[in-house]
Amino acid sequence: MPAVAIRSMIRREIGDDRVCVLTFDRPESGANIFDTATMSELGEHVDAIERDNSLRGLIITSAKKSIFIAGADLRTLLKQAQTGELHDFIAQGQRVFNRIAALKIPSVAAIHGACAGGGYEITLACDWRLASDDPATRIGLPETTLGLIPAWGGSTRLPRLIGEDNAAEVILKGKLYSASEALKTGLVDEVASREQLLDAARRLIGKGKRPTAKVPPPKGNTPVPSDPKSARARALGIITTGAANPVDESLKLELDAIVDLGQTESTQNLIRNFFLAEKYKKGSKQFEKVAHAAIIGAGVMGAGIAQWLSSRGVTVILRDVNRELLDRGLASIEKTYGDAVKRGLMTEEKAKQGRARIVASTAPMELRDVQFVIEAASEKIDIKKEIFRELSMQAGPKTIIATNTSALPVSELASCTVSPDRVIGLHFFNPVSRMKLVEVVIAQETSDDTKEHALAFVRQIGKLPVVVRDSPGFLVNRVLFPYLLDAAELFENGVEAEKIDNALMKWGMPMGPLRLIDEIGIDVTVDIATTLEKAYGRRDRAPEILRSMRESKLLGRKSGGGFYKYQGREQLPNPPPPGTGSAAASESVAKADLAQRLMFLMVNEAARCIEEKVIESSEDADYGMILGTGFAPHRGGPLRFAEHFGLKKIVEEMNRLAQSDEKFVPCEILKKHVRDGTKFYES
Ligand code: NAD
Repeated sequence: MPAVAIRSMIRREIGDDRVCVLTFDRPESGANIFDTATMSELGEHVDAIERDNSLRGLIITSAKKSIFIAGADLRTLLKQAQTGELHDFIAQGQRVFNRIAALKIPSVAAIHGACAGGGYEITLACDWRLASDDPATRIGLPETTLGLIPAWGGSTRLPRLIGEDNAAEVILKGKLYSASEALKTGLVDEVASREQLLDAARRLIGKGKRPTAKVPPPKGNTPVPSDPKSARARALGIITTGAANPVDESLKLELDAIVDLGQTESTQNLIRNFFLAEKYKKGSKQFEKVAHAAIIGAGVMGAGIAQWLSSRGVTVILRDVNRELLDRGLASIEKTYGDAVKRGLMTEEKAKQGRARIVASTAPMELRDVQFVIEAASEKIDIKKEIFRELSMQAGPKTIIATNTSALPVSELASCTVSPDRVIGLHFFNPVSRMKLVEVVIAQETSDDTKEHALAFVRQIGKLPVVVRDSPGFLVNRVLFPYLLDAAELFENGVEAEKIDNALMKWGMPMGPLRLIDEIGIDVTVDIATTLEKAYGRRDRAPEILRSMRESKLLGRKSGGGFYKYQGREQLPNPPPPGTGSAAASESVAKADLAQRLMFLMVNEAARCIEEKVIESSEDADYGMILGTGFAPHRGGPLRFAEHFGLKKIVEEMNRLAQSDEKFVPCEILKKHVRDGTKFYES
């Protein structure tokens, strides 16, 4: 096949059969993406194709191992959203894709590898779509998960291809589909093996242009997103009203919507979160993979961590002093594996292999060959110290000993061992199988080598590490607790649980603070608060109500009741206790903005973590809170929220609240930023 033109991003080749193949192959990169240069180059290729009357068909494909086209370049997109240049880039893409759709010759997209967003929208401009059955092939339109909509024709062409209801499902969920799922949904027309892909594409050219087909009529049962300005609501509007409009008008709606959305703080935050995830996934140093680990304590966390490690190929010795609890731990591991198989996340074979990697025991075992020991025993300093003394004797000379403690000083545990330089905190979150964050806690004597090994280990098992200094509550619990405890105090003062929780859910939190306390357990909450109060004083004092709930065995979900009563799946609020609060107090608190006052406490504590160098950067604080607590991702974390809200306004509001309660006194770094006109973030 003679090459007609060699371009930087896309090769154009014409075979003897007069079929033109455009192969996306971005130099020096494993991925193809659309930026302005690639889009211009594609436009030039389309010029040439339009001019050449001898062509019989067009195939669009990629030369990359695992990526077709990953979508629009998000860096370009974010920059343009901030500078208001997004309109031109999107309009340029729409024009080029429209010209592909209008070609007189039949066109086929031969998809192998990730085909997402703009990468799928170019295929929608083709007559036929064909996917390789390789596991690397993942197809979809994830724009709404980033606060955007498919605006290179995706919101317009997909409903015309598979019907409004199916298109709404694909676009609003934003998930990526395997080739067989994509075939079932109608996202692609055929599936072929990777080797056969181009031959199959040539066969499809033989079918000619795609005839206009009837799509299933809408049932209109897609739930309408509650916020009419959200990306999902905007996308749904175009899918449903746009289908009755001419294509050009629908495309104009796409363009207007994406330009509006790009200007919002929420969308920019969601795109920033995407880059943060990329950043935290990458490590600078490579180490030999951890193959063997031991876990001490088979409770909620020990069992969770053992399951996770074993599912990631690590063999695990799981030890507990209590046979009954060890069996319960094993049963919960069994259940996690069973659920994963049921939900199609894992094959039965993989689950079986995973389970087989765990050896459980109540007797001490040889630990010389394990690279990591993770202690996840009861949160009592004396128990843990004893375990650390023992481990220090049993472990090999290179074994790293980690603790999963929530609030005890790691340095104190390290001092019980002969090599404190090899002790570190690895603070996993509950439930381990769902929470991505691990706080990597650096104690006084933790060596750099131990730190680097621990970071690599956390990444190896598919979690995201944030490095924190050994100090009470580390980052996440420290920032979370003043917020949780103030919510409990409001309840004590007569504000209804639902009112508090609804305010925070409306603000964007995944769960209200009182529901969260019920999940954590009232007893555990009081214990953690007691530790934190010793270090930080008033703002971490557990209100009386929590202590009396603990005494009356209202421990939260695990006891069937806390702030709410739990009956099966049902959850009913418990009324504020009699004798607490007063109508007047309740009224005055109710008038203040509940969500804001609680958020100010989080902002203040996150700022203190910067001030005291608990973490290295504002990004660590924000990303840690998003990953560790589900903090409203579109708000970008407590510090991003603070800057968007206005640091000056926060300090003023906090000073006002501080007149009646010292816990609201703003910290030094907040006041300093206001004084000097500086910020946590550059942009
Ligand atoms: P848990 O009470 O469910 O389990 C603790 C287990 O440790 C029990 O099975 C107990 O028998 C065992 N144990 C006690 N002494 C032992 C010893 N000497 N040797 C071996 N096993 C021993 O507790 P959990 O909720 O799993 O918490 C474990 C650790 O993880 C604590 O430090 C806790 O602070 C921390 N943590 C808990 C959560 C959470 O949400 N539960 C989250 C993060 C961290």
